[in-house]
Amino acid sequence: MFGPDRFAPRLCSVSLEDLRARGILGLIIDLDNTMVAYRQSEVLQDHIAWVRDAHDRGFKMVMLSNNFSERVNAVAGQLGVACVPNALKPLPTGFIRARTLLGLPSNRIAVVGDQLFTDVLGAKLLGFYTILTEPIEPHDFALTRLFRFFERLLLRKRGAL
Ligand SMILES: [Mg+2]
Repeated sequence: MFGPDRFAPRLCSVSLEDLRARGILGLIIDLDNTMVAYRQSEVLQDHIAWVRDAHDRGFKMVMLSNNFSERVNAVAGQLGVACVPNALKPLPTGFIRARTLLGLPSNRIAVVGDQLFTDVLGAKLLGFYTILTEPIEPHDFALTRLFRFFERLLLRKRGAL
């Protein structure tokens, strides 16, 4: 119930070929610590290349972030992808907006993010394919750290760590 469908060390290590083979046509991507390091606006070169590759392969993409508009828009603009800021993940509202932007059914969409409770749990509730990445850097909000504590407990129980 809680586990992601797949783990990846980084966004750029997610195989677009595998996703396509599963029938995935759209991607919903988290911003902080998935696309860019926490509080950074500069996108990693490897991630720029990955997004370009995804675009070339015909994947539709939306960035979905609990962060506020200005920074999310800056990063999304840099990458040329649509975005939904203030998403309130894990609540379904933002995910539903992202899905509407993609114009695809849930089973054709993969959600990629670094947090089990916001990205993966929220996505699973709506039936998306889910990929959990490792955070780009460990520094994060206190609440996120609390979530991570429970996350580690759960993952350890599942034998994933
Ligand atoms: Mg994140």
